[in-house]
Amino acid sequence: MIPYGKHHIDEDDIQAVVRVLQGSMITQGPAIELFEKKVADYVGAKFAVAVSSGSAALHLSALAADIQPGRSLVTSPITFVATANAGLHPGGDVIFADIDPETINMSPEALQNILSKNKSVRAIVPVHFAGLPCDMKNIKSLADEAEAVVIEDAAHALGATYDNGNKVGCCENSLMTIFSFHPVKAIAAGEGGMITTNDEVIYRKLLKLRSHGINKIDDPLLLPEAYDDSERNPWYYEMQELGFHYRITDIQSSLATSQLNKIDDFIARRRTLVMQYDKAFKGLKNCRPAQIMGKEQSGHHLYVLRIDFNSIGLTRGQFMRALSASNIGSQVHYIPVPLHPYYQKLGHNLNSFKNAKEYYDQALSIPLFYDLTDDEQNYVIKTIKALLG
Ligand SMILES: *Cc1c(COP(=O)(O)O)cnc(C)c1O
Repeated sequence: MIPYGKHHIDEDDIQAVVRVLQGSMITQGPAIELFEKKVADYVGAKFAVAVSSGSAALHLSALAADIQPGRSLVTSPITFVATANAGLHPGGDVIFADIDPETINMSPEALQNILSKNKSVRAIVPVHFAGLPCDMKNIKSLADEAEAVVIEDAAHALGATYDNGNKVGCCENSLMTIFSFHPVKAIAAGEGGMITTNDEVIYRKLLKLRSHGINKIDDPLLLPEAYDDSERNPWYYEMQELGFHYRITDIQSSLATSQLNKIDDFIARRRTLVMQYDKAFKGLKNCRPAQIMGKEQSGHHLYVLRIDFNSIGLTRGQFMRALSASNIGSQVHYIPVPLHPYYQKLGHNLNSFKNAKEYYDQALSIPLFYDLTDDEQNYVIKTIKALLG
């Protein structure tokens, strides 16, 4: 079976994990800070906080942005549910802004329209869909006008670059950026996530929130029993906020650090495969690549086709089952978040998201990963073209 996405593990990744297992700290040790430093350096941000998943990173960043009851978070309907859930967990509301039909990213016009009617918006969370960076300058200036902060969901976009060549995650137009290290993403930690920021106050808040709200950094301790003759008591620790256990382990951090050494190769191979798919699916009647721009900028997390299933006389389910019978995996990214039963119960629906709806009806992600060979890719192309008729 050729899956739609997959990680790549080398012997040096295995040895990196073995070294941690043979050492004295398998969690809360030095590998975590090394990983944080490496990601911060790679993307060009001052600070990075590693956590247990991309979803945990989103949750903590919404808390750090002060989302709470009465405040809203705006995001794209075409994303994984975790992006929107980050607004709900702290008791806030979620508002969706329709996508641009060409980029599949949140449309700045749709965002502007929402901000003009809605004074409760506190955070805007653009998603760099499939690794293609959003129009961050435009989004940042709209956010500034509305006095909202920007959190970039870069779960697809580690290694992607903006037009000016800076890396996604440098936070030049956002307060925070989040990444995921789930195995289908650019690099694998097993499970893992990261928040980058240039803001030291936010950084310190995130460090506390990740570990129960306990102050283990050098922030001032609040209660007098912290000190004995002005010396810090050795047993003392202090919970200053309501936090979570969202820590990552040294085992995961060490794997991800080793993986990060290879990211430029990973993306270069993905880019080559994307160019080959683009060429193969150019000029077809019933099928086209969902994103045609930004090939040098994108992190190339996914390759999505838009297929006019009505005109080929197959439902998407039939199409996917036929691919699967030929040992080819495919997936739909994503079921629009407002369509999920939980969101419908909150009053959401797809009525006002014409572009998201049209995209969703046609979308199909086909295999894209570092180890996909040219032969396998040609087989995927041939099989899909035969099904298209
Ligand atoms: C994968 C993903 C997440 C969540 O990351 P996890 O590490 O799986 O929790 C969030 N947003 C988007 C867009 C994703 O693709």
